[in-house]
Amino acid sequence: MTHTKQSKDNINPSHYKQGNIEVIDFILDQKLNYLEGNVIKYMSRYKYKNGVEDLNKARWYLDLLTGKKYTGNLQKIADKVGTEVSDALVEVFKERQKSDGLRMSGIGRCERAQWYSVKGYEQEPIEGSVYLTFLQGHILEAVLLGLIELSGHKVTGQQKKHTVEGVNGSQDCYIDDELVDVKTASDWSYKNKFTETGIKDDAFGYIKQLSGYGKTEGREVGYFLAFNKNKSTLKLCEQQLETDIDQHIIQLKDKMDSDTPPMRLAKGSTFGKDGRERLNMNCAFCGHKESCYGALTAVTKGAFTSYYVDQVAGSF
Ligand code: SF4
Repeated sequence: MTHTKQSKDNINPSHYKQGNIEVIDFILDQKLNYLEGNVIKYMSRYKYKNGVEDLNKARWYLDLLTGKKYTGNLQKIADKVGTEVSDALVEVFKERQKSDGLRMSGIGRCERAQWYSVKGYEQEPIEGSVYLTFLQGHILEAVLLGLIELSGHKVTGQQKKHTVEGVNGSQDCYIDDELVDVKTASDWSYKNKFTETGIKDDAFGYIKQLSGYGKTEGREVGYFLAFNKNKSTLKLCEQQLETDIDQHIIQLKDKMDSDTPPMRLAKGSTFGKDGRERLNMNCAFCGHKESCYGALTAVTKGAFTSYYVDQVAGSF
């Protein structure tokens, strides 16, 4: 009996049974076709299941119903995407400027790494493959925003500048007037880091960065639009913003003024069974890892390079 009841619930869950008439009964009664039925299905459940994602699905079926393939001036939008790809390519080959202070893109990252940048320490050279990964991300984001615009959404405010407590940064864009940061993600991070209710284990400080952009406009909510590079799927993640981000920036600036660097990341490295201290992912990608840990031994296996600390000195 229990099994029968549970199966029934899974097949026809409670979000389709709100109100006096079940969604499936209404669809059958009105003799709606597949597309029409899906519009009703997603509109009926969005408050109880997937929020904005369900609304977007309903819109997608509505667009199919109205025969809408794309909106706007295809050539104009394609040209805009082309210009952004060209800018991204030029940016990759530009000589890197020494950072002369905090940037909004860094306020959520390791404070010690920012201290090294602010104090003018030279960054370690970036491998060619990392440049290509950045470039790939920029190109995908530009194409994605073009497609979003063609699908009928309003894409505005690209690279709009914001300043909070003297720290500057540029947002990605607004989509339908909502603050959105587009992120390209591996299959693993798409599944494990980006959730319907925001980012989990935010090692790269994306939430603080987005909160900085939202702060100047008094926003409490922003969105990450995650794009799965392996499967070409999209996920919209609603993110509660940190409304006291200005206080965080004030404290961060005090730490940057100090003559001693802030603490290392709590989980920056781990000790293996062989007693060797190995940098974890965040530190392995850091451009100041040698200033931070001293001499390192790099061991490359396949596409991954591991870094081992030559002289274990303990964190401070
Ligand atoms: S190596 Fe790790 S702890 Fe050190 S500055 Fe870089 S990110 Fe921070």
